[in-house]
Amino acid sequence: METVPEAHPRRKSIMTRHALVAGFEKGLVCGQGLIAQGRGEAFDYLLGEETNDFAKDASEAAAAMLLLARSPVVSVNGNMAALCAREIVLLAGEVGAKIEVNLFYRTDERVERVRQALSEAGAKRVLGGEGRGEVKIPELFSERRRVSRKGIYSADVVLLALEDGDRTKALVRMGKKVVAVDLNPLSATSQAATVTVVDEITRAIPGIRFAAAGLRRANRKALREKVRAFDNRKTLSRALKRIGARMRELSGELGRG
Ligand code: ATP
Ligand code: MG
Repeated sequence: METVPEAHPRRKSIMTRHALVAGFEKGLVCGQGLIAQGRGEAFDYLLGEETNDFAKDASEAAAAMLLLARSPVVSVNGNMAALCAREIVLLAGEVGAKIEVNLFYRTDERVERVRQALSEAGAKRVLGGEGRGEVKIPELFSERRRVSRKGIYSADVVLLALEDGDRTKALVRMGKKVVAVDLNPLSATSQAATVTVVDEITRAIPGIRFAAAGLRRANRKALREKVRAFDNRKTLSRALKRIGARMRELSGELGRG
């Protein structure tokens, strides 16, 4: 892999691109996944490429929701596996969640690659792609509606990222609580999810894990209160306000020049 100088201002973004392209060459990431990353980066740029306070608050609520869950599942796609497989395994361990591979552009080969990446990152058990253990969820076309009976199908809380809006809506309609990581506060997924963490995936997943570690000793009543007090519409509105404020700030600087 090409090296990027430590001091390069876009180092993190360039490294992320390298990881995705490497994942693409290995058959882990699909072409559409590369395009999705581009859209995410644009929003990250507008949001200041940092974890904002509204993302921290959402991570707290997400952690509480995952800790309260009867059967939480982390749904993993190619981009997630390429960018943060190890962090996904650590988060699942922290909150006692199952891990399931679920791909929008599904092929058996790619499912296998994602499973492999997760196993190499330390996952003991990975659901998805098991054939007979799979069921079809309503209202979704194509292969992505196939989910594991023991995983997403029977989950009460599903964490997903870089996900298509229709699929997120279908899960919500099935009565599931959805924690979404998505940099675009306007996406259908962000709008439909129960808790949206508007942050870059490699920052968001460890952020939720740290929040969960901090809440380990909290009692269920306190966790429920945290979830109850959370308002996703307000969170998305704070994200949009942040973009607006930043644009005003930056355009002011240009205006002075
Ligand atoms: P939707 O279907 O929800 O309206 P979309 O069609 O615009 O969304 P998709 O390609 O379905 O987009 O989903 C990818 C989503 O993931 C986008 O909203 C994008 O901003 C976001 N995204 C891409 N890369 C990252 C990343 N590294 N971290 C967090 N979010 C990301
Ligand atoms: Mg979409």
